[in-house]
Amino acid sequence: MYRDDRTVLDPTCACYVCAELKTEKSALHALFKEKNHEAGRLAIIHNVSFFNTLMSKIRDAIRQGTFSKLSAIYVSRAEKPSWKKMEKIL
Ligand SMILES: [Zn+2]
Repeated sequence: MYRDDRTVLDPTCACYVCAELKTEKSALHALFKEKNHEAGRLAIIHNVSFFNTLMSKIRDAIRQGTFSKLSAIYVSRAEKPSWKKMEKIL
């Protein structure tokens, strides 16, 4: 699925792997296939950043009283929503 995908892991993500290294999905796929330990390290950096961002958005939504709206948007999407799209909605 990602073997030939030359796009950045998540272009909306500000983590080191996406924003600084601009790691392509195909590159990460190749590292996982090689059982290269760097694959796990890069995935962890991205995933922790994703969940830190998600928790930050949840805290903000709770403070603003819009958590149910955020939750509905997030759950209704088949794939991970773009934070930029969500910020426009909220
Ligand atoms: Zn990332």
